[in-house]
Amino acid sequence: MTTTYAPVDAGRLAADLVTLETGRTTAMRTDAAEADRVERAAAGLGRPALVLRARLARAVVMLREGETVAAGRLTHQVYAEAVELGDDYVLARCHRTLSMFFRQVGDAATALAHAVQCMSHTADDAPAAIRSRHLMCLAVMLDETGSPEEARRAFDEALALATADHDGELALHLMNNMAYTAYERGDLSAAEEITERMREITRSAGLALNATCLDTMARVAMLGGRPAEVADILAPLLTEETSRDLIDVGYALEEALLTAAEARRALGQEAGAQRLLDRLFRLCAEHGLAGLQARAREQQALLYAATGHYREAFEEYRRFHDESRELTNAQQDARSRAMQAVYQAEEARRATDAFRELAHRDALTGLHNRRHADQELPAALATAAADGTPLSIALIDLDHFKRVNDTLSHEAGDGVLRLFAAVLTTAVPPDAVVARIGGEEFVVLLPRTDGAAAERACEHIRATVAGQDWAPVTGGLPVTCSIGVTTVTGRGATPATALASADRHLYSAKRAGRDRVCAGPVNAAAESRR
Ligand code: GH3
Ligand code: MG
Ligand code: MG
Repeated sequence: MTTTYAPVDAGRLAADLVTLETGRTTAMRTDAAEADRVERAAAGLGRPALVLRARLARAVVMLREGETVAAGRLTHQVYAEAVELGDDYVLARCHRTLSMFFRQVGDAATALAHAVQCMSHTADDAPAAIRSRHLMCLAVMLDETGSPEEARRAFDEALALATADHDGELALHLMNNMAYTAYERGDLSAAEEITERMREITRSAGLALNATCLDTMARVAMLGGRPAEVADILAPLLTEETSRDLIDVGYALEEALLTAAEARRALGQEAGAQRLLDRLFRLCAEHGLAGLQARAREQQALLYAATGHYREAFEEYRRFHDESRELTNAQQDARSRAMQAVYQAEEARRATDAFRELAHRDALTGLHNRRHADQELPAALATAAADGTPLSIALIDLDHFKRVNDTLSHEAGDGVLRLFAAVLTTAVPPDAVVARIGGEEFVVLLPRTDGAAAERACEHIRATVAGQDWAPVTGGLPVTCSIGVTTVTGRGATPATALASADRHLYSAKRAGRDRVCAGPVNAAAESRR
């Protein structure tokens, strides 16, 4: 791919960029040089969009090589220029790269916000190979931020595109991600179904399963309680002659050794497990793989314990813990250094603040979202406990909301939700935190508010909603809401017990006929028994 073309033309450069952007250059090592070549050529032709795309391709190489700070800076610079240029494709690529950057520095929420922005700038008629990869980025971030259902929908859409495009390799890559996320959630049947499809597609498309795919399959077999299958699955990787071509990413072989050792131990083949671990420890030392070494120590400790060497097991465990802690500290240091270095550029900070805020907003109503509430509730509980002030938590659910959708339309339902959000915002006290946490469910946090004051505040909300003129949105259909509110005083309440208590009161309000407020204190013991 390092061929030089004469004369250079923009169409050819754009095609070379798609090759870079889809990771299809034949050897990874040449990507940096290729990106630089395309950037120079595009600059020579006076094509700013192509120049920016080439710089982003360069930033992706940097991210892959662990040059996080330089990559973050470059991407933020490109982003500022892309906004000026207003080219959707370039903006989509920017957000995709920013998503990778924030994921790498451990800020999953901001990474998700960029993945969402990436999709919103990706045109329907973008090349399938690009659209599908953007969807995969979104799916991975949705999964990592706790939305497995939405993640699955994004994965499915990406897979449909890859399949229609006859891109077996991409389809396999996607399925591997899907299988691994299912494995991590402990969803055995989904994981097995996908690994079976992976086998089929490799057969029908004549592809080889690479190391990452083989390791995923081995782990799924472990999850399914079939350690005996692991050796067979990993055999092509663990035999020196065939393994080289299969290793697709960094330390896939080392990962596979760890999985294989665990399987041998589960089968009671301790000597075999020990041989695999010895080989793994050698490789870890050779390549300085601290993370894998710590995990290998954990396996070693379990193996010692399995063979009755309890003192050695204990000592190995202690080393595992020490190394893991050191590693976490080092990673956190590296992350905060990276963020700081990138944020020395003012525009980078401003852009990120805006996206972080976006990640905490609900698109329909503009209210804060569940992610924000999940972050604010523990903080509010901690403040209340520290200051010795009461905190009240109200859950609000619209009454018979399905009727609005069913008798009018979904659009009318959306209209009700928007107007409801506006009414709610004006009806709550100024220091309240309001969030939409589900379809027609909202939470209101009322700091420094005791039970009696909270009941008054909620009654005011209820009455304001019931008294609102809904006719412009619903015709004649009334809109009311039910509210369950609970009050925490002192310590001892967790977010889960507080929400369970509010939810119990909400249920009582519904059962008692709706359009009313039910209140009570949190009884931690009672909530935890439920
Ligand atoms: P109840 O009084 O018991 O709460 O009855 P309900 O009909 O409000 O409750 P249910 O939970 O059965 O229905 C909630 C409905 O809200 C179902 C779903 O279709 C609708 N919904 C959820 N999110 C949205 C949305 O974003 N827009 C619209 N228009 N409807 C939504
Ligand atoms: Mg509901
Ligand atoms: Mg409802």
